[in-house]
Amino acid sequence: MNSWASVAIPPLNERFKLPALNIFDTAARKVCPVSVKTTYRMYVCGITPYDATHLGHANTYLAFDLLHRYLLATGAIVKFVQNITDIDDPLLERAVRDGVDWRDLATSQIDLFRSDMVALHVLPPSHYIGAVEAIPLVVEAISALDSAGSVYKVDEDLYFRVHNDSDFGSRSHLSQDQMLKIFSERGGDPDRPGKSDPLDALLWLSQRPNEPGWQSKYGVGRPGWHIECCAIALNYLDIDPQSSTSIDFQGGGSDLIFPHHEMSAAQSKVMNGKEFASYYVHAGMIGLDGEKMSKSKGNLVFVSKLLNEGVDAMVIRVALLRHHYRADHMWNNQELDSSREFLDDLRIALSRPEVAPTDKAIESIIASLSDDLNSPRALSAIQEWITATKQGQVGGSPGELSRAIDALLGIAI
Ligand code: ZN
Repeated sequence: MNSWASVAIPPLNERFKLPALNIFDTAARKVCPVSVKTTYRMYVCGITPYDATHLGHANTYLAFDLLHRYLLATGAIVKFVQNITDIDDPLLERAVRDGVDWRDLATSQIDLFRSDMVALHVLPPSHYIGAVEAIPLVVEAISALDSAGSVYKVDEDLYFRVHNDSDFGSRSHLSQDQMLKIFSERGGDPDRPGKSDPLDALLWLSQRPNEPGWQSKYGVGRPGWHIECCAIALNYLDIDPQSSTSIDFQGGGSDLIFPHHEMSAAQSKVMNGKEFASYYVHAGMIGLDGEKMSKSKGNLVFVSKLLNEGVDAMVIRVALLRHHYRADHMWNNQELDSSREFLDDLRIALSRPEVAPTDKAIESIIASLSDDLNSPRALSAIQEWITATKQGQVGGSPGELSRAIDALLGIAI
């Protein structure tokens, strides 16, 4: 699968030093210092291509874009992989509902997603991998789990014994009742007869009537969702044998904490004995009219629709970055107006020949982002600089500030 077009990152003046990043790790349940490294491995779960790209998606990918940009600004190499679940139940259900071929639906939504990411200045992954193209890797991963005695059959379908990972549950911290409830709500099948444990995860679904299937040594079928991400991450992130964890960052929206990230991490742990990620990082949910934005509620606001209405993509970016990435919040279209005003003010201030001192503003942006990617605080620092410039303070470099805002916050002026 082709990734999307890259976005140029302007250089940050070398006199600005980046402190080590601190990030909230869901597994540790606290903000943790990130070890300083020369190479980081980041896996961010991608979309299922049938409802791209709503503001909840955009919020998630912007959060990891901030992380990506910060790590790059430290001078590190960032290996970044994202998947796209281009075969799964919701995609097939939507294709049937709309009377279209599931492949055509997926292709059109993937194209839309890519163009939205380019418009929003989200840096592309180095590998953007579809579930279908990853099927041989998934089959290999299932074989590895099978060799570890962690796979069993229910009819012709294959399941993973989640408790073969002794740390199962340690990333999401839920009670058994909570796990069962959420598993059932998010596509799991706790009540299926024949399962050893209700939480055991589907690895391979044998072909159903009128559904696609792919030939494999386990028969004709298709992969489960959790093993898809596990297999793609372990294969494309070039795991460092010296490292005690497979990757540095596992990312996604907070609705993926359980079951998806717990299951992927458990499978990965059984496969290679290492904890999957050093940091499990999750973005908050965006709501509308008092409810979480989701396909089931039909209350989605699409990036492409806003762009078609003439909204500047940078205004959407600012509107989302004004909230901390972990904070659940309600979307309100008035936020576009205030973000447009902010951006207009910023552009006017940066075009002045004399501007307020910029070093402090840039240092403040850096310090805010180093503290669990606090973008609202970074934007407040910019607002203070705009005010100081309007008041006639001088001595700054508009070019340096503009480049720092672009490099670190991805806001192109
Ligand atoms: Zn995933």
